[in-house]
Amino acid sequence: MKKYIYADHAATTKLDSEAFEAMKPYLLDEYGNASQPYSFSRIAKKALKQARDAIAECIGAHPQEIYFTSGGTESDNWAIKGDMSIYDHKRVMITSQIEHHAILNACATVERLGYSVIYLPVDNTGIVHPTTLLQYISNQTKLVSIMFANNEIGSVQPIQQLAAIAHENEALFHTDAVQAVGHISIDVNELGVDMLSASAHKFNGPKGIGFFYIRKGTNIQPYVDGGSQEFGMRAGTENVAAIVAMATALKNNVDHIQEESKRLRKMETHLLNILTNANVDFIRNGCEDGLPGNISLSFKNIEGEMLLHRLDLMGIFISTGSACDSVKTQISHVIKAINVVENYNKGTIRISFGKDNLDHDAEIVANALISILSESN
Ligand code: PLP
Repeated sequence: MKKYIYADHAATTKLDSEAFEAMKPYLLDEYGNASQPYSFSRIAKKALKQARDAIAECIGAHPQEIYFTSGGTESDNWAIKGDMSIYDHKRVMITSQIEHHAILNACATVERLGYSVIYLPVDNTGIVHPTTLLQYISNQTKLVSIMFANNEIGSVQPIQQLAAIAHENEALFHTDAVQAVGHISIDVNELGVDMLSASAHKFNGPKGIGFFYIRKGTNIQPYVDGGSQEFGMRAGTENVAAIVAMATALKNNVDHIQEESKRLRKMETHLLNILTNANVDFIRNGCEDGLPGNISLSFKNIEGEMLLHRLDLMGIFISTGSACDSVKTQISHVIKAINVVENYNKGTIRISFGKDNLDHDAEIVANALISILSESN
């Protein structure tokens, strides 16, 4: 029997067992370099092609629009630096205040290079409104980068509308879809995005591998210079085993995306109902129709760190919306951006259920929280 409850799937997920089996041959027997012309590499080369085809199909892309990277951070850096470093008269990019640090710190770099970055505010459910983008976009905007689903509060952005506004203003549109790929149905053509970042370990694939979608014809610089791998855009010998596992994991998740999403929604509702019925004083952050299984809660007059450690002692693993230093609790940039009220903001935790959670885990986590909170009041 499982002795713990892992409820931090927004941080990382367990490797899909079929994905694990799928990667083994490319580590042990078929370890040839996929770029070599001899017959020993043929199987690795074929596996690489099949993985690219399968991944492309999962997001409605063309295989030649999929570039393998080391994960979400690299894909995000590529989008921002690879696009902004193309020299032309446009010197401004737009993003949001609630992006992951992979985006925010890449933006800080392009700011140091002399470009301007506008950080759009969000409403108190964590949504970037199309009207806000319309207010700030201009003929100087080169790139708009807005995340698909927020990692802390699960808010899902109106990507299709935001991308359309970017294009009407002749800007490119990128989305960091690291939390969404494999969990929410995605069709890049329906969405109209030019670039999209994804990371395998968020959808039951291995860590250290991901992909970057670049729409054909998009003007972007190569990210890693070297050999001619990845259509000459991202050099380095391909990690065939991890790529094959990523494709297997993604396909498995996408094949069950609707039923898994429904199951996770039920778990969310169950957990929230138990807390409400026990008269727990809390705020649910984000939107109800956000990322399935992602529940950000703020509790009154409580430190999120305390809840994390007490739950840890009970074998339940979640994360917080804050980080303690030796002096005071730091509220995360996302919790600040959605203006969680003063008495609640330090008491923020994120529970993120996923594929390996059992339905009754929601009840166990809710009851554990009730027990800790009743002792603390
Ligand atoms: N973007 C978002 C929204 C994330 O949640 C994460 C990881 O937490 C990343 C980017 C970075 O992805 P990776 O861990 O693959 O570098």
